[in-house]
Amino acid sequence: MTDATLLPSRGASDALAIADGVIESLALPADGIRVDDPATGDEIARIPDLDVDAALDAVVRADRAGRDWARTTPRQRADVLHAWWQLLIDHTEQLAHLITREMGKPLAEARGEVKYGTDFVRWYAEEAVRPGGGFREAPDGGAHIITRRAPVGLAVLITPWNFPLAMATRKIAPALAAGCPVVVKPATLTPLTTIYAVQLAVQAGVPEDLVRVVTTSSSSAFSEAVLRDARVRKVSFTGSTPVGKTLLSLASENVLRCSMELGGNAPLLVFDDADLERAVAGTVAAKLRNGGQSCIAANRIYVQEGIADDFVEALAERLGQATVGSGFDPETTVGPLIDDRAVRQMRELAQEAIEHGAVSRAGGATPAGAGNFFAPTVLDHVPASSRIAQSEIFGPIAAVQRFRTEDEALERANATEFGLAGYVFTESLDRAFAVADRLETGLVGINQGVPSNAAAPFGGVKQSGLGREGSAEGLEEYQSIRFYNIAQRSRA
Ligand code: NAD
Repeated sequence: MTDATLLPSRGASDALAIADGVIESLALPADGIRVDDPATGDEIARIPDLDVDAALDAVVRADRAGRDWARTTPRQRADVLHAWWQLLIDHTEQLAHLITREMGKPLAEARGEVKYGTDFVRWYAEEAVRPGGGFREAPDGGAHIITRRAPVGLAVLITPWNFPLAMATRKIAPALAAGCPVVVKPATLTPLTTIYAVQLAVQAGVPEDLVRVVTTSSSSAFSEAVLRDARVRKVSFTGSTPVGKTLLSLASENVLRCSMELGGNAPLLVFDDADLERAVAGTVAAKLRNGGQSCIAANRIYVQEGIADDFVEALAERLGQATVGSGFDPETTVGPLIDDRAVRQMRELAQEAIEHGAVSRAGGATPAGAGNFFAPTVLDHVPASSRIAQSEIFGPIAAVQRFRTEDEALERANATEFGLAGYVFTESLDRAFAVADRLETGLVGINQGVPSNAAAPFGGVKQSGLGREGSAEGLEEYQSIRFYNIAQRSRA
């Protein structure tokens, strides 16, 4: 068993200087909500703590700007989105350093998030000129029906801390492409990337008030006031299922269109006929991306008995080689967790599983030093009844259970109220499709651990959510379908 090594939690000074230069350019106030670097615990900025009046003022302003925006042509909206995309790409390094500074992920992964996050802006710049609509004929020939897509109206977007750029662009870009104004509330743990990206949007030609960022420490007061405002027509939320349920019930008062990207509890199935190398690499990617702090992270790893010993050994070796430390250190492969609560949660989950019979194969130790670090850990023979097998881990613990048959694996994989992502590793094409078809999830990675893509309609079933983000379906979330019925002379 090899424990991960901890590198100095302070990154190279050049990298910090780039991040801090961007923060300075944001012209933030001297007081307000404190934003910390999770790798050092240092305060890096203060952001405005806006009250309900300020949030409602943002709604009024966005609504006003939205009236002109709704009348722009698809091509005008596409051009503005293209210009925003180009500016974001030109500022890749600034964005990546800012993400690492406020969220902690290794710089290489932050660059990956910039690529992934900007892909949505590019995709919806291209999609804006295809707003949809169609023509149908009434069965009795007595009418022609034309369908049109109209912007749904003012959209309130609430985002989490784990992908500060991508979760914002995945909502803002389709809203703008459809012709909607936006009020966006980023997580207070990682607000800076959204603030910066929206400043770049304005530089690129997005009208000043069309996208308003609201930062606040009272998120419930914010949602209670804003979602009850008659100008608001849509809420799109990414975050935990309990908060999603609260927002759904609030949204019902104003009968808002809702998109909910909620919690996950992804099963990952490795069959005896899997390519071992590919299965281990895919599991490492699905587990360690963002330090496991991803809604589609592999949560319950089910391995068939014939391959289990080899798989666990190889996985433990790979995770044991991880280098934990500041995201600015080029050798770091796993950054800090978002806060000390997350570290405590990892310790408690691992300890409880071990007390109930799980066997630790790698990690387990928390590296010493400032920052919220937890070494990637592999637990084998995890009992299905333990807390780690039932809750969303949201950290770098690979919890392995073993199974005998395909039916048994599927029954256990589907025994959850969540249904966001699932993974299948097998070299059999038949089995891959048969298992993917029976997994009760919105998306399935087949022989691969990173299934997200701007071209894919991301979203969950069951209590993992409503609606889809990305692809053409993501645009529809911000459109209302209308039809015109044109009377036709009877042909009878
Ligand atoms: P969270 O639910 O605590 O917070 C998400 C956002 O909601 C934050 O901006 C927070 O300030 C805000 N919020 C909290 N209570 C609110 C309220 N009453 N009214 C309005 N806003 C409120 O989640 P988190 O800890 O930031 O993120 C982790 C969770 O998000 C995990 O469960 C993860 O699975 C989920 N997630 C889902 C997806 C997905 O696409 N399905 C993507 C990323 C994260």
